[in-house]
Amino acid sequence: MPASYSSADDVLHVLASLRQHERDGKRSPHKPLLVLLALSRLAETGSSRIPWALAKTRLADLIADFGPPSRTGRAQSAAYPFTRLRSDGVWTLDTDVPMDRVTPLHGGVTGQLESSLERALKDQPDLISTVARSLVDAHFPSTVAPDVLLAVGMDPEAVEAEAALDPAPAPERRRSSTWPAAVLEAWDRQCAFCGFDGQAGGVPVGVEAAHIRWFKLDGPDTLDNGLALCSLHHKLFDRGMLGLDDDMGVVVSQRFSARTPFGRFVYDLHGRRLKPRPGTPEPAAEHVRWHQEQVFHGSPLVST
Ligand SMILES: [Zn+2]
Repeated sequence: MPASYSSADDVLHVLASLRQHERDGKRSPHKPLLVLLALSRLAETGSSRIPWALAKTRLADLIADFGPPSRTGRAQSAAYPFTRLRSDGVWTLDTDVPMDRVTPLHGGVTGQLESSLERALKDQPDLISTVARSLVDAHFPSTVAPDVLLAVGMDPEAVEAEAALDPAPAPERRRSSTWPAAVLEAWDRQCAFCGFDGQAGGVPVGVEAAHIRWFKLDGPDTLDNGLALCSLHHKLFDRGMLGLDDDMGVVVSQRFSARTPFGRFVYDLHGRRLKPRPGTPEPAAEHVRWHQEQVFHGSPLVST
């Protein structure tokens, strides 16, 4: 049964333990997304209450946009964390309903953060930002984390500034300090998808080292798990709008849409093959498969 959470350490500890649900490299951000939505409601309205009528649209949208690709129906995908977060001792429902079932929720069930947890968060407003940052940092790459915060109704810069006042939880793995430069070098300091090679005073600008399998989901800092990508294509790759097929061709998702010529330029990437320079390893098939299964959304623009 729910313990009582009074100190900042208690709150951080119990919410950070939601990380444990990510096993075998399979992404499962459903519960963290619900907690983030509840934190945003708490900051905005003074209460974390979320009626199912709201969760079945807002939470379902968040899961569809930021979760792994899924064939589960939208309401069902929201019902899972809405009912199951109770077993973590941090969430309560005002009606005792069975796990995972959608129909009983339609009777007007409302969820809320466990009361001592909610009180601890209200007593220390900076703690909301600290927990929010800890959750997005644990489950999403830095290209996606600000988008998630914006989508739940928080200001990413404010979260960053307020959370900075508290010590950040120690990272579980250390990133290699030399990997980003090695990846840029291996790909001639240009985007592997579009070829963008901008420099500012001789230094690459807007070209970044991207993990294919996310570092936070056990992706290694190796050259066969890295691509140099421009900032835009890095974000689209991490958001699952761009991907790779088994032949190292770029794939554009049908979910991506743009109207202006610059935006529509992304469509032209579909089918382009990666051309690493001699000596640079192609992305490893296992990392590409992970991205296909855990990140890439929807169907390819043109089926091959
Ligand atoms: Zn690019």
